[in-house]
Amino acid sequence: MTNKEKILKDLNIGCGVARPVRAPRGTELHCKGWYQEAALRMLCNNLDPDNGENPDQLIVYGGLGKAARNWNCFDAIVRTLLDLENDETLLIQSGKPVGVLKTHESSPRVLIANANIVPKWANWDYFHELDKKGLIMYGQMTAGSWIYIGTQGILQGTYETFAALGQKHYNSDLGGKIVVTAGLGGMGGAQPLSVTMAGGVAVCVEINPTRIAKRLEKRYLDIEAISLDDAILKAKEAAGNKKPLSIGLCANIGDILTSMIQKGFIPDVITDQTSAHDELNGYFPKGLSFEEALRLRKTDPKTYKDMALNSMADHVKAILEMKNQGAIAFDYGNNLRAQAMKRGVDNAMDYPGFVPAYIRELFCNGEGPFRWAALSGDPEDIKVTDRELMKLFPEKTKMVNWLKMAEEKVEHMGLPARICWLGYGEREKAGKLFNDLVRDKKVKAPIVIGRDHLDCGSVASPYRETEAMKDGSDAVADWALLNCMTSVASGAAWVSFHDGGGVGIGYALHAGQVTVADGSPDAEKRLTTVLRNDPGTGIIRHADAGYETAIEVAKTRGIKLPMVNMHGNRP
Ligand code: NAD
Repeated sequence: MTNKEKILKDLNIGCGVARPVRAPRGTELHCKGWYQEAALRMLCNNLDPDNGENPDQLIVYGGLGKAARNWNCFDAIVRTLLDLENDETLLIQSGKPVGVLKTHESSPRVLIANANIVPKWANWDYFHELDKKGLIMYGQMTAGSWIYIGTQGILQGTYETFAALGQKHYNSDLGGKIVVTAGLGGMGGAQPLSVTMAGGVAVCVEINPTRIAKRLEKRYLDIEAISLDDAILKAKEAAGNKKPLSIGLCANIGDILTSMIQKGFIPDVITDQTSAHDELNGYFPKGLSFEEALRLRKTDPKTYKDMALNSMADHVKAILEMKNQGAIAFDYGNNLRAQAMKRGVDNAMDYPGFVPAYIRELFCNGEGPFRWAALSGDPEDIKVTDRELMKLFPEKTKMVNWLKMAEEKVEHMGLPARICWLGYGEREKAGKLFNDLVRDKKVKAPIVIGRDHLDCGSVASPYRETEAMKDGSDAVADWALLNCMTSVASGAAWVSFHDGGGVGIGYALHAGQVTVADGSPDAEKRLTTVLRNDPGTGIIRHADAGYETAIEVAKTRGIKLPMVNMHGNRP
């Protein structure tokens, strides 16, 4: 049996229905090159039951975020990747493989566009109409662009956010502080471990008991409370002893926040990571049990959406009340505030989003969520990359601490992977390092390198990444398109452009890129070009908006800015 025949059999290609899928591992190619092979393995990895949230429905994370439109499309993508030549490019339109074009060897092997709708029609209702007709798919950010690495993918960013919050407000870590939040899904599940890594106590409210069980099993969550009183007691005790602790509570956050206020319990920090961006498939209205809500979603979606939006309005009012009573409140990128505004909460924006509050300065340095996965499937390969990265950047003490902590605390989900935020210039060095490791056989197989679409240059999202830009350019999406085209021009392995992401249809446009270190000189050229230019567009975007740090980085690192003089004033 050839490798191709074996993989067709292992993945049960052609059956057209749901079945467990895991990425092939090891050093042998099934495709005609490592770029196609990497795309194939990462698509399967997104659907690995240990990694994706609801793989039977091809859902990877973030409400409806899918890897392929349906199982027939999945089968067709796999078949096409197996036959794809090294000078061909596969086109994916919202999770469906639609064509193969002759390009050239340095072109991306796959180009992906997910959920993009002409702006006048770009809303959930129209999306659902198209979805019902089988014409579109929600790709979230890394679900439809095949570079999801489980909850770890968001872990370091979440940790950085809570650590930055501690520094900004308390001039220390979160020792002795209580954070209340909700949502223990694919992304939100990173919150408990991030808070404890930053020294604090987290109370995480989640309505779906299986999500709590999953986070306990993977050690992202320490314990589960049996009631709100139990949670408050345990949180206060741990905070009093300055002991990091994360506590899960199975309930609806809407009900819980009201009770907390009634009981006079105001946490130090309040935020939320339910899938509020999607009122039908992501958020549970209060007053219904989990099972009742799931039924209503199917039988009467209109009433469900109405109830969910009303609940979100109360949810935001409760956050504002806690803020008034002294809590630090911030929005965690799920569009909860804009949803509440639809129900008349006009002052929803009185608390800030996490990007302007804690992350923008990192973006001005070209910093963003650099991530990689070992295609060998061997966790030892990730240990090698961790160690070599610490040697490459010994001065980056926060990164070194993170890598040590991650090695100890983070369980791999699917293919072994790692994330760490790196800045402009650093990403290309790391890419070259990984290519050298593959070339010198210090790791067993090629390494795939990508990032979240939440990055410095890749996204236009006025309620998240580009909220409150200095020059008011929050909603200008040219930047995300320029970033996408830059990755294509620079020779990424696959490139994607999506609408929606973490905040929902019509609220964000964003691009992704993935590269592959296969040890070849060609890969080195492509990697260094992509990994320099991709954050380079972030520097340009922030410099153009007038951020001094970005202008300074451009000036010292040789990024040409034709219209911004070196004092930050536009001619
Ligand atoms: P998910 O759909 O996998 O998980 C959401 C969880 O919230 C589910 O487990 C659900 O049961 C729970 N939930 C919903 N309503 C609830 C309620 N009323 N009370 C209690 N629990 C409730 O989504 P995810 O991948 O974890 O993402 C969560 C949100 O964060 C999304 O809106 C996503 O777009 C956004 N997001 C933020 C970032 C960031 O960097 N901050 C990054 C990616 C995604």
